[in-house]
Amino acid sequence: MKIKHSLFALLLAAAPYAHVQAAAWDYAQPQHWGDLSPDFHLCKQGVNQSPIDIRQAVYARLPALALELQARQAAIVNNGHTVQVNLQQGDTLKLDDETFTLKQFHFHTPSENLIDGKRYPLEGHFVFSNQQQQLAVIGVMFVTGSANPVLGTLLDALPAQVDQSATLQEDVDITSLLPVDRHYFRFSGSLTTPPCSEGVRWLVMKQPVSASAAQLQAFSVALGAQGNSRPVQPLYGRLVVE
Ligand SMILES: [Zn+2]
Repeated sequence: MKIKHSLFALLLAAAPYAHVQAAAWDYAQPQHWGDLSPDFHLCKQGVNQSPIDIRQAVYARLPALALELQARQAAIVNNGHTVQVNLQQGDTLKLDDETFTLKQFHFHTPSENLIDGKRYPLEGHFVFSNQQQQLAVIGVMFVTGSANPVLGTLLDALPAQVDQSATLQEDVDITSLLPVDRHYFRFSGSLTTPPCSEGVRWLVMKQPVSASAAQLQAFSVALGAQGNSRPVQPLYGRLVVE
């Protein structure tokens, strides 16, 4: 009994270490993410990496974006890599005859994708997943202009401390974080953070959404002077369609 008991205690003690921690990474040297861990090899060796400079898109008669959105409960966190909003699930995107469900959205400052070489002060990524856990991401660029009410709500609720989550008092409808004109570019890409997994269906809205200078500044402050934007990656023969 004694031996069994101590074995059990040992197992319990070891349990927290059984899960191998992912390598720590940051935005100081994103070009070296692939060297931090074998798990991150695609960051260095992948040929379908994001973000990209979107240019010379090929006309492909893309269908209208099939989004079903409504106001939902949400929580916001600055996880040290991004400001992220986790929503109650239910918003959907129909793409390629499959249903993708919105999991979360988050922000990059400045933008990660470029459009015709132009970098925007902020880019939102709306991350959807289908039943096979394949991802589709809608990217939205922000420009300086009138204040965005939803961004205001998010920034008001954002906890000052990293990794502290706050529930939003009002339900969040992402409709006002999307442009009215929903024309988009489409290309195949990856996560823009380690492990840089590929097979992500990227849809980047052509029209930007406005945010006030103060709102854009608030994201900059929250995400640090260095920002959280991976440099653009080579296309390697990929096509962007529109
Ligand atoms: Zn992102």
